[in-house]
Amino acid sequence: MAKTVVILGGGTGGTMVANHIARSMKDEIKRGEVSIVQVTNNPDHVYQPSFLFVAINHARVVDYTRKQKTLLSQGVELLVDPATKIDPKSNTVTTASGKTLSYDILVIATGAYPDFNSVPGLAEAADNFYTAEGAEKLRDKLMSFEGGKIVFTVDVPHKCPVAPMELTFMLDDFFRKKGIRDKVDILYTYPIGRLHTLEPCANWAAPKFEERGIRSEVFFNVESVDPQKKIITTVEGSEVPFDILISIPAHKGAPVIQESGLGDEGGFIPTDRYTLKAEGYDNIYVLGDATNLPISKAGSTAHYEADVVSENIISELRGLPVSHYYDGKVFCFVEAGLNEATYITFNYNNPPKPVPSSEMIHWFKLAFNEMYWLSARGIL
Ligand SMILES: Cc1cc2nc3c(=O)[nH]c(=O)nc-3n(C[C@H](O)[C@H](O)[C@H](O)COP(=O)(O)OP(=O)(O)OC[C@H]3O[C@@H](n4cnc5c(N)ncnc54)[C@H](O)[C@@H]3O)c2cc1C
Repeated sequence: MAKTVVILGGGTGGTMVANHIARSMKDEIKRGEVSIVQVTNNPDHVYQPSFLFVAINHARVVDYTRKQKTLLSQGVELLVDPATKIDPKSNTVTTASGKTLSYDILVIATGAYPDFNSVPGLAEAADNFYTAEGAEKLRDKLMSFEGGKIVFTVDVPHKCPVAPMELTFMLDDFFRKKGIRDKVDILYTYPIGRLHTLEPCANWAAPKFEERGIRSEVFFNVESVDPQKKIITTVEGSEVPFDILISIPAHKGAPVIQESGLGDEGGFIPTDRYTLKAEGYDNIYVLGDATNLPISKAGSTAHYEADVVSENIISELRGLPVSHYYDGKVFCFVEAGLNEATYITFNYNNPPKPVPSSEMIHWFKLAFNEMYWLSARGIL
């Protein structure tokens, strides 16, 4: 009887794991010894980093969307049917249509989503670039904006921790090029006492903010937002007006995780930082934004984790010991305007050191945006 690997989630992490195993085990799959089933709730796969460029009208969502079935290697069975319950006792997953899937090994890569209901008034008042619809709506507002106050608010955890800073720099440049920067007041806020959770990133950004006249306020935690008066009230007691509020609220894990009793209070799964197994479960792996690991929720994180998860699953299916461990590696390009970027790379033991920003690094970021599909397919 075939050993079955069920992969929940058809985003970055789930797709990379499915393809990696299918390519390496094509003979076992052909012989009917191994079967790989990917369960997702969306027939489309959207490259989320493109939303940053959608917001400034340098990209369209449609150009960064592929049918999930076209991204999967031969040997991966795709089921577009949201998982509604994971039962680790019976090693089964139930789906919205009522199917019950049994697994020998389960991979959870169900991601994270911005919870706009985490703060009163936020859902009505805020714009965002963390969803496809949000980025398109924000683009329309920004393109017709002729002056006023743009405020960024951020809460943690959220995916791509540098993205709010990137859009801040890009908007500064955008309004300069449009010739109306003097009419636009940009206020970037952050919940802790510096501009970013990663101290080297905060130190890298601070002089650039100063140089470009981007205002910032730290220890800024949103308590509520009045959508009619367009005023943010903070836990710290200030009241801040805005014309456009770009908000990145705290993220949560997928509802199915909470509903299955597998998540912490935010819906993130307690995960072993080296083996990437769900704590307490020897046959469940977790990767990407779904983990509770103290590391950036990023596509590159999911990519490096996918290599560890796939190799160890292949070993387990072949009756070999597992031998790959995740070291916390993350790599991110960071836009510092419309034509320049830096990059950071770090792991559990080594903090990031942003290099001086350059136009060349910006072009590398744009090139990776196009090459992502090769990564997802497991070719790159
Ligand atoms: C604006 C923005 C900019 C970003 N920029 C970068 C960047 O420059 N670099 C970088 O590395 N990362 C970046 N990221 C982050 C990156 O996109 C995510 O970290 C990455 O996609 C995480 O991969 P994942 O597989 O964990 O989750 P996802 O790719 O989000 O995939 C989760 C999948 O699970 C599915 N799912 C959810 N619930 C269920 C269910 N119940 N049943 C079945 N399927 C389900 C979803 O449909 C989705 O297919 C950015 C993100 C945003 C929003």
